[in-house]
Amino acid sequence: MQEPPPKIAPLRFGMPSGPQPPKPLPPVPTDEPKSRRLSLFQLTNETCKWPHGNFPPFTFCGHPVELFSRYCPHHRKRGSTKPAVLKLPQFIAR
Ligand SMILES: [Zn+2]
Repeated sequence: MQEPPPKIAPLRFGMPSGPQPPKPLPPVPTDEPKSRRLSLFQLTNETCKWPHGNFPPFTFCGHPVELFSRYCPHHRKRGSTKPAVLKLPQFIAR
């Protein structure tokens, strides 16, 4: 037997009512190659497997891959740009 989830009243701290202005989209890299929109069944060992879209039917970049990579040069870079350096607090870093 499960208890119903507690109802949480919406917080109102003087927020303006009505429609909010849309948030600006994050900047898209301008050097991104135009997707060839390949389907899953069109992918080969030589095509970039970078997915596009959040809903089916999913498509893939499809550009020629870099040697020993699953992605084209552009998407290989995009996939490896996550922050790899752990930032220490100021009192430890000194
Ligand atoms: Zn790609």
